Amino acid sequence: MSEPPLIEVKDLKVYFPVRKGFFGKKQYVKAVDGVDLVIGKRHIVTLIGESGCGKTTLGKTIAGLIKPTAGKILYKGKDVLKLSGKEYNEYRRNIQIVHQDPFSSLNPTKTVFQTLSAALKRWGIAKTRKELLERSAELLEMVGLTPPEDFLFKYPHQLSGGQRQRVVIARAISVHPELIVADEPITMIDVSLRIDILDLLLDLQKKIGTAYLFITHDFGAARYFAAKGGGIIAVMYLGNIVEMGPAEEVIQRPLHPYTKVLMSAVPVPDPELSRKRKPLQLRSLDIPSPLNPPPGCKFNTRCPYYFEPCDKEVPKLVEVKPNHWVACHLYTREKK
Ligand code: SF4
Repeated sequence: MSEPPLIEVKDLKVYFPVRKGFFGKKQYVKAVDGVDLVIGKRHIVTLIGESGCGKTTLGKTIAGLIKPTAGKILYKGKDVLKLSGKEYNEYRRNIQIVHQDPFSSLNPTKTVFQTLSAALKRWGIAKTRKELLERSAELLEMVGLTPPEDFLFKYPHQLSGGQRQRVVIARAISVHPELIVADEPITMIDVSLRIDILDLLLDLQKKIGTAYLFITHDFGAARYFAAKGGGIIAVMYLGNIVEMGPAEEVIQRPLHPYTKVLMSAVPVPDPELSRKRKPLQLRSLDIPSPLNPPPGCKFNTRCPYYFEPCDKEVPKLVEVKPNHWVACHLYTREKK
């Protein structure tokens, strides 16, 4: 029998209640609204979508930081909510998260050594001061902070944004995770250093074999990460995955209108090509409120290809090419 995948997300829903005014009716923001996703060992899944589409909520829920409203997350085939205490601890150690803002994810009163040794001690990976120092130095070398002696006893405010994110990555890999949820890891970093961080993540994947859920709103970053690392790209819109497939296939031949719009907005380095390219025109620039999404396909108010059933029927995610899934009536209904 084949081994179950590292993570399997089944019809996952995460709703947040909101109330307008003291006596107002309770409404729900459907941040994640029925998502299925599989992350295998050593796999890379790049999750892309605009701010507010639910991708961070999905990442945090997979990492065990948010409880789902409905649906399941299976960790190595077992429902996360039914794991024993020991199994749940293993799951929490095995899924590490790298947040967007490295400054707020590091304790400003702790040195780099204190930060790294806290994680190493907590999971029993190193115990004595000598072991902690040696392992911390190794981790700093792995993330390119060399010589480690120059960084071990510094505080976060003494480091640049890129160096801080490297420390956060070192802390994440310190516990030998099988999956790193990298949530917009380059957004708050100087533009000139972003590629270095992406390359570091990809390099670590080859060295330590961790899987990634790489979350980004930047299609350029997604294209770079997925083109070099492979794996799959999943595109998210207002709580749902609307396209998913092999990275190269989604980049070169996107099928969903929303993915096409995102792709057409990515600048290309060739000025000739750039002049020839016509960006797809959206029907509306307004992103609908997740409190009150449009009926039918949630993209229908903006979609340049909108047709008759789009505002009435919800399109299902269907496999239209081998391993390439799309939720759009264009591929399942005839346009009259
Ligand atoms: Fe556009 Fe209709 Fe496809 Fe939605 S289902 S993406 S509105 S064509």
